[in-house]
Amino acid sequence: MKEKIVINWFRNDLRIQDNLSLYYASKLSKTLCVYIYDDSYEPQFLPGSASKAWLFRSLNELNETLDNNLKVFIGDAVNVFKKLTTKFEVSDVFCNKSYEPQQIEKDSQIKDYLSEIGINFNSSNSSLLWDTEKILKDDGTPYRVFTPFYKKGCLVYGDPRPPLPDFTPNVFQSELLISELNVLSELIDDDWDKKIKKNWHVGESAALNQLDIFLQNGIYNYKDGRNFPDNLNVSRLSPHLHFGEISPNQIWYAINENNNERNVSHFKSELGWREFSNNLLYFNPNFPTKNFQQKFDNFPWEFDTEIFNSWKNGTTGIPIVDAGMRELSETGYMHNRLRMIVGSFLVKNLLIHWSYGAEWFWECLFDADLANNSAGWQWIAGSGADAAPYFRIFNPILQSQKFDPDGKYIKRFVPELSKLPVEFLFSPWDVKDSELLKYDFKMGEDYPFPIIDLKFSRQRALDSFQKMGEKS
Ligand SMILES: Cc1cc2nc3c(=O)[nH]c(=O)nc-3n(C[C@H](O)[C@H](O)[C@H](O)COP(=O)(O)OP(=O)(O)OC[C@H]3O[C@@H](n4cnc5c(N)ncnc54)[C@H](O)[C@@H]3O)c2cc1C
Repeated sequence: MKEKIVINWFRNDLRIQDNLSLYYASKLSKTLCVYIYDDSYEPQFLPGSASKAWLFRSLNELNETLDNNLKVFIGDAVNVFKKLTTKFEVSDVFCNKSYEPQQIEKDSQIKDYLSEIGINFNSSNSSLLWDTEKILKDDGTPYRVFTPFYKKGCLVYGDPRPPLPDFTPNVFQSELLISELNVLSELIDDDWDKKIKKNWHVGESAALNQLDIFLQNGIYNYKDGRNFPDNLNVSRLSPHLHFGEISPNQIWYAINENNNERNVSHFKSELGWREFSNNLLYFNPNFPTKNFQQKFDNFPWEFDTEIFNSWKNGTTGIPIVDAGMRELSETGYMHNRLRMIVGSFLVKNLLIHWSYGAEWFWECLFDADLANNSAGWQWIAGSGADAAPYFRIFNPILQSQKFDPDGKYIKRFVPELSKLPVEFLFSPWDVKDSELLKYDFKMGEDYPFPIIDLKFSRQRALDSFQKMGEKS
């Protein structure tokens, strides 16, 4: 007779500690640990190149922690479960909830299949601080504005669940199954892997270590310092949170121990934005592809491949924009202030639809996350819920003067400008050729002229916004 086991299906929860599904599975029985790279989704929902490289490393870390007992499969998850349930006597499948529409749809197919053959499908919330499906206004409709969502919907709802005590999973070892972890390596772009190696540490212990670093330094001036891209005040936990190498609950309670209230509560509210993005995605499954505010369907967008490529390559001739775009392609991360600056520049100065920006971020970010990326882009475009108003157009020169006053961030990522004194750095095209020559620098040769005039494009964006209003 076959041994009765349970399956823990890892998804974006690539950790052992504070992992509810793994904990419940282990309490019940010997647990077969499974990860499925489901390639049956539409390409837009498959991980981008940067994410795939991170995923591969993270799975390797998890596999090592599980003493080589993580079984990785590539293919449609429904078919994988059909095979597993034929091979083994399975009583239950456990997983942590995903709020992404394509995963919800797949979970429902798998739940139906399992229920037909008498297997329980158990899912828990282990990625968000609150059960997002329950966070609704008093009238039963979803929130559209962040502050009441967070303050009334989340904080009043109650404290988030404290992390679970540390435990050792009750792992089922099987020689019958061949893991396809190594096959996955064929999908990995070597360049992105090298960028991880150079800039990041991946996996559960790296995530806890990163939290520790942040608690020892960054948190002390988080509220103000988080706006300055050259400061070490942000946590850089986003890829770890996206892949679930750490839970938001572990972060929330670790940070609570710090009695630096002003900065702690601001940091928690940023975790609140993550909750809000997921809530928006859950209640609006079209959020990644459709304007949340329908009036934006009438917006007169433009598109020019050459201009878009300059933005992607960080050769727009606007130093702070180029610095942000190069940070993205060199490190797989971009500071939040820069995400807003380059986003505003793309959507407002260049009039390119936010979905092009979202797609490029999806390809290049290690933290590419369907909820946060869609919310971030719709926020900056003005088309989202509680979004920055469209007429708020970031001035990249003023932004760089304010948030990179010494020009250190610009010089780091746009080294060809580093010979210039700081007063020339933010808009070198405004400086006379003769002045630049003193520094052996020539616009158009050492650095491109701006691809667009900022004043003209600002006015054009405002006029387009007005046209949209007239049409709707
Ligand atoms: C155009 C645009 C696209 C974005 N795309 C993504 C994305 O794909 N993935 C992603 O995780 N974040 C995205 N963000 C949100 C934000 O920029 C990043 O979460 C943040 O920069 C990550 O760095 P950190 O971990 O050092 O942040 P910290 O400031 O240390 O914040 C801690 C955590 O809080 C959450 N958080 C912080 N700010 C936000 C925010 N505005 N919205 C939602 N959650 C937030 C993140 O999980 C973050 O890791 C985007 C923002 C914009 C404007």
